[in-house]
Amino acid sequence: MILSSHIVAASALSAPLINQPFSFLNSALVFIISFLSHFLIDMIPHWDYKTAFGEKIKKADEFVDSKELKNLFQSDLVKFFFDGILGIVLSLAIFNFSDFLIDFNFEKIFMFSLIILGGILPDALNAFYFFRKKYLNEKSFLEYFHRFHNSVHGKSIFNGKFFLGAFSQILTIVEIIFLIKLFQQ
Ligand SMILES: [Zn+2]
Repeated sequence: MILSSHIVAASALSAPLINQPFSFLNSALVFIISFLSHFLIDMIPHWDYKTAFGEKIKKADEFVDSKELKNLFQSDLVKFFFDGILGIVLSLAIFNFSDFLIDFNFEKIFMFSLIILGGILPDALNAFYFFRKKYLNEKSFLEYFHRFHNSVHGKSIFNGKFFLGAFSQILTIVEIIFLIKLFQQ
């Protein structure tokens, strides 16, 4: 799933906690829930936008020069940036999180940051894995993590079809929010 979908889903799950008094336990829970939600959401067959970084990794069986990967990753940064911003803006709007931004409630802003971090950390670790691949041994944490992430990842659909793919993702996220809200009542 794209980053914004992960941020919105993590926000939907964490919304009741963010509205409670701030505590260490609450913050830890928000982070853990957001982190775990990443894998649950990834399980659903979904579309992903193309990135130069991702295409290179898919094609290359062997190790790719880390400098080349770095350049590709940098060329994709604009996409990742706008994807992330979209997720943040949508979450602020859908879950009334914007209230605490206006009041500048630091504790709630901190918890929202944990949602974003937890929600996208698995993909960040995965990208980091490809940068470090050459130096990793078979039993390293990143290697296991990468295999786990891959194994739960759902089927890729609507490859190369931007509008259909994006639309399917919007539909999936709306359904997820609806389901979460239903259970939280
Ligand atoms: Zn992922």
